Amino acid sequence: MTFQIAIDGPAGAGKSTMAKILSKKLKAIYLDTGAMYRACGLKAINSGIDSKDEKALNKMVSDINITISFENDQQQIFLDGKNVNGLIRTPEISVSASDVSANKAVRLKMVEMQREIAKVNNVVMDGRDIGTYVLPDANIKFFLVADINERAKRRYHEMKEKNMNPDMESIIKDMNYRDTNDSSRDFAPLKQAKDAILIDTTNLNINQVIKVMLEYINETQTI
Ligand code: C5P
Repeated sequence: MTFQIAIDGPAGAGKSTMAKILSKKLKAIYLDTGAMYRACGLKAINSGIDSKDEKALNKMVSDINITISFENDQQQIFLDGKNVNGLIRTPEISVSASDVSANKAVRLKMVEMQREIAKVNNVVMDGRDIGTYVLPDANIKFFLVADINERAKRRYHEMKEKNMNPDMESIIKDMNYRDTNDSSRDFAPLKQAKDAILIDTTNLNINQVIKVMLEYINETQTI
Protein backbone atom coordinates (compact mmCIF):
# COMPACT_ATOMS: atom_id res chain seq x y z
CA MET A 1 0.00 0.00 0.00
CA THR A 2 1.26 3.47 -0.86
CA PHE A 3 0.54 6.59 1.16
CA GLN A 4 -0.32 10.12 0.09
CA ILE A 5 0.23 13.42 1.85
CA ALA A 6 -1.51 16.46 0.36
CA ILE A 7 -0.27 19.98 1.02
CA ASP A 8 -2.24 22.91 -0.35
CA GLY A 9 -2.25 26.65 0.14
CA PRO A 10 -1.38 29.94 -1.53
CA ALA A 11 2.08 30.88 -2.86
CA GLY A 12 4.73 31.46 -0.24
CA ALA A 13 2.93 29.69 2.61
CA GLY A 14 5.78 27.16 2.88
CA LYS A 15 4.34 24.21 0.94
CA SER A 16 7.39 23.25 -1.10
CA THR A 17 9.86 23.75 1.76
CA MET A 18 7.83 21.47 4.03
CA ALA A 19 7.05 18.96 1.27
CA LYS A 20 10.76 18.56 0.48
CA ILE A 21 11.67 17.91 4.11
CA LEU A 22 8.74 15.59 4.78
CA SER A 23 9.32 13.54 1.64
CA LYS A 24 12.94 12.90 2.70
CA LYS A 25 11.96 11.96 6.24
CA LEU A 26 9.19 9.64 5.05
CA LYS A 27 11.07 8.22 2.04
CA ALA A 28 8.43 9.42 -0.38
CA ILE A 29 8.52 11.26 -3.67
CA TYR A 30 7.92 15.01 -3.57
CA LEU A 31 5.67 15.97 -6.46
CA ASP A 32 5.60 19.71 -7.12
CA THR A 33 2.41 20.05 -9.17
CA GLY A 34 2.91 23.80 -9.62
CA ALA A 35 5.88 22.98 -11.88
CA MET A 36 3.49 21.18 -14.23
CA TYR A 37 1.22 24.22 -14.57
CA ARG A 38 4.32 26.37 -14.95
CA ALA A 39 5.45 24.18 -17.87
CA CYS A 40 2.00 24.70 -19.44
CA GLY A 41 2.35 28.45 -18.89
CA LEU A 42 5.75 28.37 -20.57
CA LYS A 43 4.34 26.45 -23.52
CA ALA A 44 1.57 29.05 -23.94
CA ILE A 45 4.11 31.88 -23.94
CA ASN A 46 6.45 30.07 -26.35
CA SER A 47 3.56 29.33 -28.70
CA GLY A 48 2.23 32.90 -28.61
CA ILE A 49 -1.04 31.70 -27.07
CA ASP A 50 -3.10 34.11 -24.98
CA SER A 51 -3.17 32.39 -21.57
CA LYS A 52 -6.92 33.04 -21.32
CA ASP A 53 -7.85 31.83 -24.81
CA GLU A 54 -9.83 28.69 -24.00
CA LYS A 55 -9.97 27.26 -27.50
CA ALA A 56 -6.26 27.73 -28.14
CA LEU A 57 -5.40 26.25 -24.73
CA ASN A 58 -7.61 23.22 -25.35
CA LYS A 59 -5.73 22.59 -28.56
CA MET A 60 -2.34 23.27 -26.96
CA VAL A 61 -2.91 20.79 -24.16
CA SER A 62 -4.25 18.07 -26.46
CA ASP A 63 -0.75 17.50 -27.78
CA ILE A 64 1.48 18.87 -25.01
CA ASN A 65 4.17 16.48 -23.84
CA ILE A 66 5.08 16.93 -20.18
CA THR A 67 7.16 14.30 -18.41
CA ILE A 68 8.64 14.17 -14.95
CA SER A 69 11.62 12.31 -13.59
CA PHE A 70 13.30 12.26 -10.20
CA GLU A 71 17.08 12.56 -10.10
CA ASN A 72 18.78 12.52 -6.69
CA ASP A 73 15.40 13.30 -5.10
CA GLN A 74 15.06 16.35 -7.35
CA GLN A 75 12.07 16.64 -9.63
CA GLN A 76 13.00 17.32 -13.24
CA ILE A 77 10.30 18.50 -15.61
CA PHE A 78 10.46 18.14 -19.36
CA LEU A 79 8.33 20.07 -21.83
CA ASP A 80 8.24 18.52 -25.29
CA GLY A 81 11.45 16.64 -24.51
CA LYS A 82 13.41 19.60 -23.09
CA ASN A 83 14.32 19.99 -19.40
CA VAL A 84 12.66 23.28 -18.39
CA ASN A 85 13.40 23.25 -14.64
CA GLY A 86 15.58 26.33 -14.96
CA LEU A 87 13.06 28.30 -17.04
CA ILE A 88 9.83 28.15 -15.05
CA ARG A 89 10.52 30.18 -11.89
CA THR A 90 10.19 33.69 -13.30
CA PRO A 91 7.38 36.09 -12.28
CA GLU A 92 6.11 36.04 -15.89
CA ILE A 93 5.70 32.25 -15.78
CA SER A 94 4.02 32.42 -12.34
CA VAL A 95 1.27 34.62 -13.75
CA SER A 96 0.95 32.63 -16.97
CA ALA A 97 0.75 29.36 -14.95
CA SER A 98 -2.04 30.82 -12.85
CA ASP A 99 -3.95 31.90 -15.97
CA VAL A 100 -3.61 28.63 -17.90
CA SER A 101 -4.38 26.57 -14.79
CA ALA A 102 -7.93 27.93 -14.82
CA ASN A 103 -8.51 25.99 -18.05
CA LYS A 104 -10.36 22.73 -17.38
CA ALA A 105 -8.66 20.72 -20.14
CA VAL A 106 -5.24 21.76 -18.84
CA ARG A 107 -6.19 20.72 -15.31
CA LEU A 108 -7.67 17.37 -16.33
CA LYS A 109 -4.49 16.44 -18.17
CA MET A 110 -2.21 17.43 -15.28
CA VAL A 111 -4.44 15.74 -12.69
CA GLU A 112 -4.38 12.48 -14.64
CA MET A 113 -0.57 12.47 -14.51
CA GLN A 114 -0.54 13.41 -10.83
CA ARG A 115 -2.88 10.54 -9.94
CA GLU A 116 -0.83 8.05 -11.98
CA ILE A 117 2.31 9.02 -10.06
CA ALA A 118 0.49 8.75 -6.72
CA LYS A 119 -0.85 5.29 -7.59
CA VAL A 120 2.58 3.67 -7.63
CA ASN A 121 4.64 5.83 -5.25
CA ASN A 122 4.49 7.13 -1.71
CA VAL A 123 3.99 10.83 -2.35
CA VAL A 124 4.05 14.19 -0.70
CA MET A 125 2.22 16.31 -3.25
CA ASP A 126 1.81 20.07 -3.05
CA GLY A 127 -0.44 22.39 -5.02
CA ARG A 128 -3.80 24.10 -4.78
CA ASP A 129 -6.37 21.31 -5.26
CA ILE A 130 -4.56 18.19 -4.03
CA GLY A 131 -6.69 17.58 -0.95
CA THR A 132 -9.96 18.67 -2.54
CA TYR A 133 -9.70 17.19 -6.01
CA VAL A 134 -6.53 15.31 -7.00
CA LEU A 135 -6.24 13.01 -3.97
CA PRO A 136 -9.50 13.29 -2.01
CA ASP A 137 -8.60 10.12 -0.08
CA ALA A 138 -5.07 11.18 0.87
CA ASN A 139 -3.93 9.76 4.22
CA ILE A 140 -3.37 13.24 5.55
CA LYS A 141 -4.03 16.73 4.25
CA PHE A 142 -2.48 20.01 5.27
CA PHE A 143 -3.56 23.50 4.30
CA LEU A 144 -0.81 26.07 4.88
CA VAL A 145 -1.50 29.78 5.07
CA ALA A 146 0.51 32.87 6.05
CA ASP A 147 0.13 36.60 6.08
CA ILE A 148 0.67 38.15 2.60
CA ASN A 149 3.55 40.36 3.80
CA GLU A 150 5.36 37.37 5.28
CA ARG A 151 4.77 35.30 2.14
CA ALA A 152 6.08 38.11 -0.05
CA LYS A 153 9.14 38.50 2.20
CA ARG A 154 9.94 34.80 1.78
CA ARG A 155 9.60 35.02 -1.99
CA TYR A 156 11.78 38.17 -1.98
CA HIS A 157 14.60 36.35 -0.17
CA GLU A 158 14.26 33.29 -2.43
CA MET A 159 14.62 35.48 -5.51
CA LYS A 160 17.53 37.42 -3.99
CA GLU A 161 19.36 34.15 -3.41
CA LYS A 162 18.89 33.35 -7.09
CA ASN A 163 20.23 36.80 -8.07
CA MET A 164 16.86 37.65 -9.60
CA ASN A 165 16.62 41.32 -8.64
CA PRO A 166 13.25 41.14 -6.85
CA ASP A 167 10.88 44.01 -6.17
CA MET A 168 8.60 43.77 -3.12
CA GLU A 169 5.75 45.72 -4.64
CA SER A 170 5.48 43.51 -7.73
CA ILE A 171 5.79 40.35 -5.63
CA ILE A 172 2.79 41.42 -3.53
CA LYS A 173 0.85 42.43 -6.65
CA ASP A 174 1.54 39.08 -8.38
CA MET A 175 0.69 37.10 -5.24
CA ASN A 176 -2.61 38.91 -4.80
CA TYR A 177 -3.41 38.37 -8.47
CA ARG A 178 -2.66 34.64 -8.26
CA ASP A 179 -4.47 34.19 -4.91
CA THR A 180 -7.63 35.71 -6.37
CA ASN A 181 -7.31 33.84 -9.67
CA ASP A 182 -6.60 30.49 -8.02
CA SER A 183 -9.39 30.79 -5.44
CA SER A 184 -12.08 32.05 -7.79
CA ARG A 185 -11.77 29.73 -10.81
CA ASP A 186 -14.76 27.47 -11.46
CA PHE A 187 -12.99 24.15 -11.66
CA ALA A 188 -10.97 22.81 -8.69
CA PRO A 189 -10.19 26.18 -7.07
CA LEU A 190 -7.75 26.74 -4.22
CA LYS A 191 -9.60 25.95 -1.02
CA GLN A 192 -9.11 24.09 2.20
CA ALA A 193 -10.46 20.53 2.15
CA LYS A 194 -12.96 19.85 4.94
CA ASP A 195 -10.63 17.27 6.46
CA ALA A 196 -7.40 19.26 6.01
CA ILE A 197 -5.34 20.48 8.95
CA LEU A 198 -4.90 24.24 8.83
CA ILE A 199 -1.46 25.57 9.78
CA ASP A 200 -0.72 29.30 9.83
CA THR A 201 3.05 29.51 9.24
CA THR A 202 3.34 33.31 9.62
CA ASN A 203 5.15 33.22 12.94
CA LEU A 204 6.64 29.73 12.79
CA ASN A 205 10.08 28.71 11.58
CA ILE A 206 10.63 25.68 9.35
CA ASN A 207 11.41 23.29 12.23
CA GLN A 208 8.31 24.35 14.12
CA VAL A 209 6.06 23.71 11.13
CA ILE A 210 7.66 20.31 10.45
CA LYS A 211 7.24 19.37 14.10
CA VAL A 212 3.51 20.15 13.98
CA MET A 213 3.09 18.24 10.71
CA LEU A 214 4.97 15.18 11.98
CA GLU A 215 2.83 15.11 15.10
CA TYR A 216 -0.30 14.89 12.97
CA ILE A 217 1.27 12.33 10.64
CA ASN A 218 2.28 10.10 13.56
CA GLU A 219 -1.23 10.37 14.95
CA THR A 220 -2.90 9.11 11.76
CA GLN A 221 -1.12 5.74 12.06
CA THR A 222 -1.81 5.03 8.40
CA ILE A 223 1.64 6.09 7.19
O1 C5P B 1 2.92 26.27 -6.71
P1 C5P B 1 3.31 27.25 -7.77
O2 C5P B 1 3.37 28.65 -7.29
O3 C5P B 1 4.56 26.84 -8.48
O4 C5P B 1 2.14 27.16 -8.84
C1 C5P B 1 2.06 28.02 -9.94
C2 C5P B 1 0.61 28.21 -10.32
O5 C5P B 1 0.08 26.97 -10.79
C3 C5P B 1 -0.31 28.61 -9.18
O6 C5P B 1 -0.43 30.01 -9.00
C4 C5P B 1 -1.64 28.01 -9.57
O7 C5P B 1 -2.35 28.88 -10.40
C5 C5P B 1 -1.26 26.82 -10.40
N1 C5P B 1 -1.44 25.56 -9.68
C6 C5P B 1 -2.71 25.02 -9.66
N2 C5P B 1 -2.92 23.80 -9.09
C7 C5P B 1 -1.92 23.13 -8.52
C8 C5P B 1 -0.61 23.68 -8.50
C9 C5P B 1 -0.43 24.93 -9.08
O8 C5P B 1 -3.65 25.62 -10.16
N3 C5P B 1 -2.16 21.92 -8.01
